[in-house]
Amino acid sequence: MPIHEKSLIRPENLKTHDKLVLDGIDVSGHWSTFIETRVVSDYNEALEEEISALPGGEYIHRCWQCGSCTNSCTVHAINPDFNPRFWIYLIRMGMESELLRDKDIIWQCVSCNKCTYACPRDVVPEGVMKATAHWLERKGHTPKSPSTHFDEVFTEQVIATGKIEESRTIRRFFKRTNQGLMQSWMVEMVKRMLRHLPIGLLSRMGLATFIAPRTSNWSSAASAIQEYIDEQHDKQDKALSLSELIDVAQKDAAA
Ligand code: SF4
Ligand code: SF4
Repeated sequence: MPIHEKSLIRPENLKTHDKLVLDGIDVSGHWSTFIETRVVSDYNEALEEEISALPGGEYIHRCWQCGSCTNSCTVHAINPDFNPRFWIYLIRMGMESELLRDKDIIWQCVSCNKCTYACPRDVVPEGVMKATAHWLERKGHTPKSPSTHFDEVFTEQVIATGKIEESRTIRRFFKRTNQGLMQSWMVEMVKRMLRHLPIGLLSRMGLATFIAPRTSNWSSAASAIQEYIDEQHDKQDKALSLSELIDVAQKDAAA
């Protein structure tokens, strides 16, 4: 799987000689530019398996590196460092430390799914980006993102009540992410709602904020959902500890 995108060469790996003469020819400065050789020795052999164990990453093994995802990517058009094809390559090769160099931009995927429609192998690169962002969080490489906090608040409310009550979800999300409630867009939205929504609907929404209605006979459905979530988390935890198990086995073999 060759990489031939000039943008992928990190500036720190490009070297030039200020003064260099070869066979009597002055190749100083730009003319002596070369890419510093690197030796990668810290492969994570379980990286592909870890990412594919998370939702969205299931089809990463199908990638044949055509680059259609990156070519069609909305974020790549603005920031050439955002490169799904390259990250899929790194994951499949187990080059974890190289992947971590981009940990602060991987979350920038806007889930437009252009890559998903462009991909000839049904890899679902958008899903791989999500799985990779979750992998970074679960492994402690990045803090929990606001979208993960939102998913958690949303799920907790569904399990607790069997209903989604928007204002409670937003309030809890703001609290969990240390954001104030009186944000300008929020104030504007509430003003417009008061102007345009029917009074009956507004009263029901206001009431629901305080009394937290529940779906009747919800407890068995809630237990089934919780059981499924726990099962999935257990499976993912096992997959995410694969690299640690391999490390221990390698250390044991070397001892
Ligand atoms: S478009 Fe699909 S097959 Fe091509 S590089 Fe992207 S993920 Fe891989
Ligand atoms: S879903 Fe993400 S990776 Fe795919 S094209 Fe949109 S921004 Fe790029």
